[in-house]
Amino acid sequence: MADIIYTYASSAYMNITNKCPCACIFCIRSNGDGLGSAESLWLKGDPTIDEIKAEIDKFDFSEYDEVVFCGYGEPTQALDNLIESAKYLKEKHKLKIRLNSNGLSDLINGKPTAHLLEGVVDSISISLNAPDGEAYQRVTRSKFGAEAYPALLKFAEDCKKYIPKVKFTVVDVISEEEIAECKKIAEKMGIPLRVRKWIK
Ligand code: SF4
Repeated sequence: MADIIYTYASSAYMNITNKCPCACIFCIRSNGDGLGSAESLWLKGDPTIDEIKAEIDKFDFSEYDEVVFCGYGEPTQALDNLIESAKYLKEKHKLKIRLNSNGLSDLINGKPTAHLLEGVVDSISISLNAPDGEAYQRVTRSKFGAEAYPALLKFAEDCKKYIPKVKFTVVDVISEEEIAECKKIAEKMGIPLRVRKWIK
């Protein structure tokens, strides 16, 4: 059975969906079925909110002060469950909530969504991935095509209004020049950028 909650490098993670509109060239999902404490992160289907809550009730969070929604899919694909389970984790265990996202929630859900995360998500890490739409498509192979990159930037801008900590990430699969361009975009938007190493 796939894990909904798993631990990896001293953090606890929520794996609530395997759906994602991208097929990133660096995606960790192509490295194996499991990660950290999870033997498999491949779910049979999206778990219901009751199934997620039942797993939360079973898990010992005493060692953790933060939970990260990440897993083998884009958490905003299951936006309602993300919001409800994050609220449950906050109320029941007083945990801080971090969201790792591809930033395409507005396109995925067909509406502006950053405001829905207010008071629910404490920090968000958004994959900027590239300095322009063309490079973005090369890296992410998003099903949204040219719409994706501007939507990501708009979502990130919106997040600054509703989420206390917003940051961008890029994976070093792009050139040094492109990383430098990403840094300029992030700086202009007032969002810190972290460059991640590609885990092959
Ligand atoms: S957005 Fe995340 S889960 Fe989706 S393909 Fe890219 S790296 Fe993988």
